[in-house]
Amino acid sequence: MKVPLVDLKTQYAAIKNEIDEAISAVLDSQVFISGRFVASFENEFGKFTGAQHVIGVANGTDALTLALRSLDLDNETEVIVPANSFVATSEAVTNAGLKPVFCDVNPKTYLLDLNHVEELITSSTGAIIPVHLYGQMVDMRAVKSISDKYNVAVIEDAAQAHGVRYLGISVGELSNLACYSFYPGKNLGAYGDGGAVTTNEKNLARKIRMMANHGRGAKYDHEFEGVNSRLDSLQAAILSVKLRYLPTWNRQRYRAAAIYHDLIGDIGLPLPTTDIKERHVYHLYVTRVKRRDKIVQAMKQEGIGVGIHYPIAIPFLDAYQTRGFQSIDFPVTYEQMSRLISLPIYPEITEEQIVYVVDTLCRNLIM
Ligand SMILES: *Cc1c(COP(=O)(O)O)cnc(C)c1O
Repeated sequence: MKVPLVDLKTQYAAIKNEIDEAISAVLDSQVFISGRFVASFENEFGKFTGAQHVIGVANGTDALTLALRSLDLDNETEVIVPANSFVATSEAVTNAGLKPVFCDVNPKTYLLDLNHVEELITSSTGAIIPVHLYGQMVDMRAVKSISDKYNVAVIEDAAQAHGVRYLGISVGELSNLACYSFYPGKNLGAYGDGGAVTTNEKNLARKIRMMANHGRGAKYDHEFEGVNSRLDSLQAAILSVKLRYLPTWNRQRYRAAAIYHDLIGDIGLPLPTTDIKERHVYHLYVTRVKRRDKIVQAMKQEGIGVGIHYPIAIPFLDAYQTRGFQSIDFPVTYEQMSRLISLPIYPEITEEQIVYVVDTLCRNLIM
């Protein structure tokens, strides 16, 4: 049996007619940039997230960069980011002319450790970026109480967490801005690159929309220099189709995760947080094992697409070598980066496949 880490082909086969029609409609219209397909998707994504403003952009990294730039922070202002995330989170900070300050993660959730955030806040701190990593939501009420106390902005990195809620709070509800990626493998994925910023602040929305489109107001009336970072019509039309399925797909992910919980619990490995149903949309199903790299190699040989998110935590990447970080700076992140393992999960995964994954894992654990 083969079990890939994600299976986009099965999903496409199930919705092929609708997708192909949506693509044809764009081709027939020859409206590729801006226009009605993008406007419709932005509108629908606003309804889905509850955000008043949605700006489609070229990718999730640009969403973060533009969100940061919209805050007009001074150069080198510090932005707190988790040490365990995809590199784009901190890369966006640097590219916005700001300085990423890394924070260790919580040993159970692998999310930004809110007990450490306050220690990192200085007079130069301008923003915090909680990352809803693996599809699991950071406690935004706790983040908000910190940001209110120190008067710093909050940008949510929701690239892996479309549609997640926690304790009745949605992404974007308690922050200034939320950023999404529509990279193909994400819970809501385009057929190419795509991203979006959502916000309830009209002035930020206006600024980001202009920045993403060459600082343009009216057609050739450029108020300032921006960039070219737009969501295109083909991606928007595809995303509109897929958005209709997203609630079902997230429920299917939850069902798959519940099967994993039972089996993984039986062999005594740590479960992802399961405290309340809504906290997690299971973009990834992550547990921890010893001798991780050997196990990953063995499972791959048996046809299972396991992943590692992430093998080298951001502060320890060559890209940040000049900052001179050491393992003791982020002890939890450092210890976990050699143990984390992501098991295959996607809406269409079958119980049989999950059983096979856990059996294989179990066999390799005791070898
Ligand atoms: C995917 C991802 C991004 C970047 O999104 P792109 O669309 O690939 O630019 C940012 N942050 C996190 C946590 C991600 O997983």
